[in-house]
Amino acid sequence: MNPQKIVFLDRDGVINAYPGHYKYVTSVEEFRLLPGVQEALRRLTAAGCALFIISNQAGVAKKMYSREALDAITQRMLDELGDGITFSGVYYCTHLSDENCACRKPRTGYVEKAFAALALQGRTPDLQQCYFVGDSLIDVETGKASGMKTILVFSGRERPENKPAWSVIPDFTAEDLSDAADIILHL
Ligand SMILES: [Mg+2]
Ligand SMILES: [Zn+2]
Repeated sequence: MNPQKIVFLDRDGVINAYPGHYKYVTSVEEFRLLPGVQEALRRLTAAGCALFIISNQAGVAKKMYSREALDAITQRMLDELGDGITFSGVYYCTHLSDENCACRKPRTGYVEKAFAALALQGRTPDLQQCYFVGDSLIDVETGKASGMKTILVFSGRERPENKPAWSVIPDFTAEDLSDAADIILHL
């Protein structure tokens, strides 16, 4: 058990089914947990990992769904995941890319917010023990820009056969979050 591990998770394509390129989960009805996610998050929580979700949700700025609908989706997610899973933070960037906010991945605003939250609890993040898990190269870029290890999962947007075209190379690749949890917990 290592209480210092900090795991940053993208949401769509990692925790729940990827809605498709340029598409969004707009309602609780469209939110579907992926297989093995509950078990993986329970293992990470039980191992003492601090878990944060960092997700781009520009569909709010595009008025495809409201902030309230997004919060309802979060509540559904937490309800479905149930006991034994603790998130230290669930952060959404609801801006458009051309708003140039500090929080839209691959920008690292929410990683810094998470580190600040942990610092308030007296936890000093060791970047060697920090992981960013995502299904898109944007997530890999975010993790690398923050100086942490990156795990690209193939349960959503990205596919292994695209590797020759990747602009950035993750430290690890994994089938899904369960596979990623194995990597995190065995390193
Ligand atoms: Mg994603
Ligand atoms: Zn933002």
